[in-house]
Amino acid sequence: MRGSRELEAHIQQLLADPQQRQQPLGEALSELWQHYQDLLERLERITRVSDAYQSMARQRELSLAERFDKQLRQLEKVARISDRYQTMMRELNQALKEAAMHDPLTALVNRRPLLERLRAEVERSQSRGHSFCVAMLDIDNFKPINDRYGHDVGDTVLIETSRMMEGEVREYDLCGRWGGEEFLIILPETSVDEAVTIVQRVRDAIAAMRIRAGAEALAITISAGIAEYRDGERDADLLNRADGALLQAKRAGRDCQQIAP
Ligand code: GH3
Ligand code: MG
Ligand code: MG
Repeated sequence: MRGSRELEAHIQQLLADPQQRQQPLGEALSELWQHYQDLLERLERITRVSDAYQSMARQRELSLAERFDKQLRQLEKVARISDRYQTMMRELNQALKEAAMHDPLTALVNRRPLLERLRAEVERSQSRGHSFCVAMLDIDNFKPINDRYGHDVGDTVLIETSRMMEGEVREYDLCGRWGGEEFLIILPETSVDEAVTIVQRVRDAIAAMRIRAGAEALAITISAGIAEYRDGERDADLLNRADGALLQAKRAGRDCQQIAP
Protein backbone atom coordinates (compact mmCIF):
# COMPACT_ATOMS: atom_id res chain seq x y z
CA MET A 1 0.00 0.00 0.00
CA ARG A 2 3.01 2.30 -0.31
CA GLY A 3 1.51 3.62 -3.53
CA SER A 4 -1.64 4.84 -1.81
CA ARG A 5 0.30 6.47 0.99
CA GLU A 6 2.43 8.41 -1.50
CA LEU A 7 -0.67 9.39 -3.50
CA GLU A 8 -2.38 10.66 -0.37
CA ALA A 9 0.71 12.63 0.68
CA HIS A 10 0.84 14.15 -2.77
CA ILE A 11 -2.85 15.14 -2.68
CA GLN A 12 -2.49 16.66 0.78
CA GLN A 13 0.49 18.63 -0.46
CA LEU A 14 -1.53 19.91 -3.45
CA LEU A 15 -4.47 20.85 -1.23
CA ALA A 16 -2.17 22.71 1.14
CA ASP A 17 -1.12 25.02 -1.68
CA PRO A 18 -3.63 27.97 -1.80
CA GLN A 19 -2.90 28.53 -5.50
CA GLN A 20 -3.73 24.96 -6.47
CA ARG A 21 -6.81 25.01 -4.29
CA GLN A 22 -8.32 27.94 -6.12
CA GLN A 23 -8.27 25.98 -9.38
CA PRO A 24 -11.70 24.37 -10.20
CA LEU A 25 -10.09 20.93 -10.09
CA GLY A 26 -8.42 21.79 -6.78
CA GLU A 27 -11.78 22.77 -5.31
CA ALA A 28 -13.46 19.57 -6.51
CA LEU A 29 -10.56 17.51 -5.25
CA SER A 30 -10.74 19.21 -1.87
CA GLU A 31 -14.44 18.36 -1.60
CA LEU A 32 -13.83 14.80 -2.74
CA TRP A 33 -11.06 14.48 -0.17
CA GLN A 34 -13.37 15.69 2.61
CA HIS A 35 -16.13 13.32 1.44
CA TYR A 36 -13.68 10.42 1.41
CA GLN A 37 -12.71 11.19 5.01
CA ASP A 38 -16.33 11.56 6.16
CA LEU A 39 -17.20 8.19 4.61
CA LEU A 40 -14.27 6.56 6.36
CA GLU A 41 -15.29 8.06 9.70
CA ARG A 42 -18.81 6.71 9.24
CA LEU A 43 -17.43 3.28 8.40
CA GLU A 44 -15.19 3.38 11.46
CA ARG A 45 -18.07 4.42 13.68
CA ILE A 46 -20.13 1.45 12.42
CA THR A 47 -17.40 -1.12 12.93
CA ARG A 48 -16.09 0.36 16.21
CA VAL A 49 -18.47 -1.87 18.19
CA SER A 50 -16.65 -4.93 16.96
CA ASP A 51 -13.16 -3.51 17.22
CA ALA A 52 -10.96 -2.60 20.17
CA TYR A 53 -10.16 1.06 20.84
CA GLN A 54 -6.40 0.38 20.71
CA SER A 55 -6.58 -0.95 17.22
CA MET A 56 -8.57 2.14 16.21
CA ALA A 57 -5.76 4.30 17.59
CA ARG A 58 -3.21 2.24 15.72
CA GLN A 59 -5.19 2.70 12.54
CA ARG A 60 -4.63 6.46 12.69
CA GLU A 61 -1.07 5.78 11.53
CA LEU A 62 -2.32 4.01 8.43
CA SER A 63 -3.08 5.72 5.14
CA LEU A 64 -6.74 6.52 4.35
CA ALA A 65 -6.85 3.74 1.75
CA GLU A 66 -5.43 1.27 4.23
CA ARG A 67 -8.00 2.30 6.83
CA PHE A 68 -10.76 1.96 4.20
CA ASP A 69 -9.55 -1.47 3.29
CA LYS A 70 -9.41 -2.59 6.90
CA GLN A 71 -12.89 -1.23 7.62
CA LEU A 72 -14.34 -2.97 4.57
CA ARG A 73 -12.84 -6.26 5.67
CA GLN A 74 -14.31 -5.67 9.11
CA LEU A 75 -17.75 -4.99 7.60
CA GLU A 76 -17.52 -8.11 5.48
CA LYS A 77 -16.83 -10.08 8.64
CA VAL A 78 -19.83 -8.49 10.37
CA ALA A 79 -22.04 -9.27 7.36
CA ARG A 80 -20.92 -12.92 7.41
CA ILE A 81 -21.63 -13.18 11.14
CA SER A 82 -25.03 -11.60 10.63
CA ASP A 83 -25.82 -14.08 7.84
CA ARG A 84 -24.85 -16.99 10.05
CA TYR A 85 -26.88 -15.51 12.89
CA GLN A 86 -29.97 -15.24 10.69
CA THR A 87 -29.62 -18.84 9.54
CA MET A 88 -29.26 -19.91 13.16
CA MET A 89 -32.38 -17.94 14.12
CA ARG A 90 -34.33 -19.55 11.29
CA GLU A 91 -33.21 -23.04 12.37
CA LEU A 92 -33.92 -22.25 16.01
CA ASN A 93 -37.40 -21.03 15.09
CA GLN A 94 -38.07 -24.21 13.17
CA ALA A 95 -36.83 -26.35 16.07
CA LEU A 96 -39.01 -24.38 18.50
CA LYS A 97 -42.03 -24.85 16.28
CA GLU A 98 -41.36 -28.59 16.08
CA ALA A 99 -40.84 -28.82 19.83
CA ALA A 100 -44.08 -26.93 20.50
CA MET A 101 -46.02 -29.49 18.43
CA HIS A 102 -44.53 -32.64 19.98
CA ASP A 103 -44.70 -34.32 23.33
CA PRO A 104 -41.11 -34.52 24.62
CA LEU A 105 -41.55 -37.93 26.28
CA THR A 106 -43.11 -39.97 23.47
CA ALA A 107 -42.25 -37.71 20.49
CA LEU A 108 -45.86 -38.04 19.34
CA VAL A 109 -47.66 -34.86 18.31
CA ASN A 110 -49.48 -33.14 21.14
CA ARG A 111 -52.98 -31.72 21.38
CA ARG A 112 -52.48 -28.66 19.18
CA PRO A 113 -51.63 -30.43 15.89
CA LEU A 114 -54.29 -33.04 16.69
CA LEU A 115 -56.94 -30.34 16.99
CA GLU A 116 -55.70 -28.62 13.83
CA ARG A 117 -55.89 -31.88 11.90
CA LEU A 118 -59.31 -32.60 13.33
CA ARG A 119 -60.58 -29.21 12.13
CA ALA A 120 -59.10 -29.86 8.69
CA GLU A 121 -60.78 -33.29 8.51
CA VAL A 122 -64.13 -31.77 9.53
CA GLU A 123 -63.78 -29.20 6.73
CA ARG A 124 -62.73 -31.86 4.22
CA SER A 125 -65.61 -34.06 5.24
CA GLN A 126 -68.09 -31.20 4.79
CA SER A 127 -66.76 -30.12 1.41
CA ARG A 128 -66.22 -33.59 -0.10
CA GLY A 129 -68.69 -35.71 1.83
CA HIS A 130 -66.05 -38.20 3.06
CA SER A 131 -66.60 -39.63 6.47
CA PHE A 132 -63.81 -40.13 8.98
CA CYS A 133 -63.33 -41.57 12.45
CA VAL A 134 -61.49 -40.76 15.64
CA ALA A 135 -60.41 -43.14 18.38
CA MET A 136 -59.63 -42.20 21.96
CA LEU A 137 -57.36 -44.74 23.66
CA ASP A 138 -56.38 -45.05 27.29
CA ILE A 139 -53.93 -47.39 29.01
CA ASP A 140 -55.72 -49.63 31.51
CA ASN A 141 -54.73 -49.48 35.18
CA PHE A 142 -51.71 -47.34 34.50
CA LYS A 143 -51.58 -45.68 37.91
CA PRO A 144 -50.78 -49.00 39.69
CA ILE A 145 -47.83 -49.49 37.29
CA ASN A 146 -46.39 -46.14 38.37
CA ASP A 147 -47.11 -46.87 42.02
CA ARG A 148 -45.60 -50.33 41.97
CA TYR A 149 -42.64 -50.03 39.58
CA GLY A 150 -41.90 -46.31 39.67
CA HIS A 151 -42.38 -43.38 37.35
CA ASP A 152 -39.49 -44.38 35.06
CA VAL A 153 -41.12 -47.69 34.22
CA GLY A 154 -44.39 -45.78 33.71
CA ASP A 155 -42.58 -43.49 31.28
CA THR A 156 -41.14 -46.49 29.41
CA VAL A 157 -44.65 -47.93 29.09
CA LEU A 158 -45.82 -44.63 27.57
CA ILE A 159 -42.87 -44.53 25.14
CA GLU A 160 -43.25 -48.17 24.02
CA THR A 161 -47.03 -47.85 23.69
CA SER A 162 -46.60 -44.75 21.54
CA ARG A 163 -44.02 -46.42 19.34
CA MET A 164 -46.26 -49.43 18.80
CA MET A 165 -49.30 -47.25 18.10
CA GLU A 166 -47.47 -45.18 15.50
CA GLY A 167 -46.15 -48.34 13.88
CA GLU A 168 -49.58 -49.92 13.55
CA VAL A 169 -51.63 -47.03 12.14
CA ARG A 170 -51.63 -46.23 8.43
CA GLU A 171 -49.35 -43.57 6.98
CA TYR A 172 -52.13 -41.05 6.61
CA ASP A 173 -53.57 -41.56 10.10
CA LEU A 174 -52.43 -39.20 12.81
CA CYS A 175 -51.87 -40.43 16.31
CA GLY A 176 -50.89 -38.17 19.17
CA ARG A 177 -50.71 -37.92 22.93
CA TRP A 178 -53.94 -36.37 24.10
CA GLY A 179 -52.64 -36.14 27.69
CA GLY A 180 -51.39 -38.38 30.52
CA GLU A 181 -51.90 -41.97 29.32
CA GLU A 182 -54.53 -41.03 26.75
CA PHE A 183 -54.02 -41.04 22.99
CA LEU A 184 -56.07 -39.84 20.06
CA ILE A 185 -55.96 -41.38 16.58
CA ILE A 186 -57.51 -39.51 13.64
CA LEU A 187 -58.46 -41.85 10.79
CA PRO A 188 -59.21 -39.87 7.60
CA GLU A 189 -61.65 -41.22 5.01
CA THR A 190 -62.37 -44.23 7.19
CA SER A 191 -65.62 -46.07 7.89
CA VAL A 192 -66.47 -47.34 11.38
CA ASP A 193 -65.79 -50.92 10.27
CA GLU A 194 -62.31 -50.02 9.05
CA ALA A 195 -61.66 -47.99 12.22
CA VAL A 196 -62.67 -50.97 14.38
CA THR A 197 -60.17 -53.18 12.52
CA ILE A 198 -57.33 -50.69 12.86
CA VAL A 199 -57.94 -49.95 16.55
CA GLN A 200 -58.17 -53.69 17.24
CA ARG A 201 -54.83 -54.17 15.48
CA VAL A 202 -53.22 -51.38 17.56
CA ARG A 203 -54.62 -52.84 20.81
CA ASP A 204 -53.48 -56.38 19.92
CA ALA A 205 -49.96 -55.19 19.14
CA ILE A 206 -49.76 -53.30 22.44
CA ALA A 207 -51.14 -56.25 24.40
CA ALA A 208 -48.50 -58.52 22.88
CA MET A 209 -45.66 -56.25 23.95
CA ARG A 210 -43.64 -56.95 27.11
CA ILE A 211 -41.96 -54.19 29.07
CA ARG A 212 -39.10 -55.00 31.39
CA ALA A 213 -39.44 -53.89 35.00
CA GLY A 214 -36.55 -55.42 36.91
CA ALA A 215 -37.02 -59.19 36.77
CA GLU A 216 -40.61 -58.87 35.56
CA ALA A 217 -42.01 -58.45 32.08
CA LEU A 218 -45.09 -56.24 32.10
CA ALA A 219 -48.02 -56.66 29.76
CA ILE A 220 -50.48 -53.81 29.31
CA THR A 221 -53.92 -53.44 27.81
CA ILE A 222 -55.74 -50.55 26.19
CA SER A 223 -59.37 -49.47 26.16
CA ALA A 224 -60.69 -47.44 23.24
CA GLY A 225 -63.71 -45.44 22.16
CA ILE A 226 -64.40 -44.97 18.44
CA ALA A 227 -66.63 -42.30 16.94
CA GLU A 228 -67.50 -41.63 13.31
CA TYR A 229 -67.94 -38.02 12.23
CA ARG A 230 -71.55 -36.99 11.75
CA ASP A 231 -72.36 -34.42 9.10
CA GLY A 232 -72.47 -30.93 10.58
CA GLU A 233 -71.08 -32.04 13.95
CA ARG A 234 -68.64 -29.79 15.85
CA ASP A 235 -65.18 -31.28 16.44
CA ALA A 236 -65.63 -30.93 20.22
CA ASP A 237 -68.83 -32.99 20.04
CA LEU A 238 -67.10 -35.71 18.05
CA LEU A 239 -64.38 -35.89 20.70
CA ASN A 240 -66.98 -36.03 23.47
CA ARG A 241 -68.66 -38.97 21.78
CA ALA A 242 -65.33 -40.81 21.45
CA ASP A 243 -64.65 -40.06 25.13
CA GLY A 244 -68.09 -41.41 26.04
CA ALA A 245 -67.39 -44.61 24.13
CA LEU A 246 -64.03 -44.94 25.93
CA LEU A 247 -65.83 -44.63 29.26
CA GLN A 248 -68.21 -47.39 28.14
CA ALA A 249 -65.19 -49.59 27.33
CA LYS A 250 -63.76 -48.97 30.82
CA ARG A 251 -67.13 -49.79 32.38
CA ALA A 252 -67.38 -52.96 30.30
CA GLY A 253 -64.27 -54.22 32.09
CA ARG A 254 -61.40 -52.58 30.10
CA ASP A 255 -59.20 -54.21 27.40
CA CYS A 256 -61.91 -53.66 24.78
CA GLN A 257 -63.26 -51.03 22.40
CA GLN A 258 -66.68 -49.47 22.03
CA ILE A 259 -68.30 -47.54 19.22
CA ALA A 260 -70.08 -44.27 20.00
CA PRO A 261 -73.79 -44.37 19.10
P1 GH3 B 1 -58.00 -46.57 34.01
O1 GH3 B 1 -57.84 -48.00 33.61
O2 GH3 B 1 -59.36 -46.29 34.54
O3 GH3 B 1 -57.61 -45.64 32.92
O4 GH3 B 1 -57.02 -46.36 35.26
P2 GH3 B 1 -55.61 -45.66 35.24
O5 GH3 B 1 -54.89 -46.03 36.48
O6 GH3 B 1 -54.92 -45.94 33.96
O7 GH3 B 1 -56.04 -44.13 35.21
P3 GH3 B 1 -55.78 -42.93 36.20
O8 GH3 B 1 -56.39 -41.75 35.55
O9 GH3 B 1 -56.26 -43.28 37.58
O10 GH3 B 1 -54.22 -42.76 36.29
C1 GH3 B 1 -53.47 -42.24 35.25
C2 GH3 B 1 -52.06 -42.09 35.75
O11 GH3 B 1 -51.19 -41.69 34.70
C3 GH3 B 1 -51.93 -41.04 36.82
C4 GH3 B 1 -50.71 -40.25 36.41
O12 GH3 B 1 -49.80 -40.09 37.45
C5 GH3 B 1 -50.09 -41.06 35.31
N1 GH3 B 1 -49.35 -40.27 34.32
C6 GH3 B 1 -49.80 -39.25 33.58
N2 GH3 B 1 -48.83 -38.77 32.80
C7 GH3 B 1 -47.70 -39.50 33.07
C8 GH3 B 1 -46.36 -39.48 32.57
O13 GH3 B 1 -45.97 -38.68 31.71
N3 GH3 B 1 -45.49 -40.40 33.06
C9 GH3 B 1 -45.89 -41.32 34.00
N4 GH3 B 1 -44.98 -42.19 34.44
N5 GH3 B 1 -47.13 -41.34 34.50
C10 GH3 B 1 -48.04 -40.46 34.03
MG1 MG C 1 -55.81 -45.21 32.14
MG1 MG D 1 -56.78 -41.66 31.58
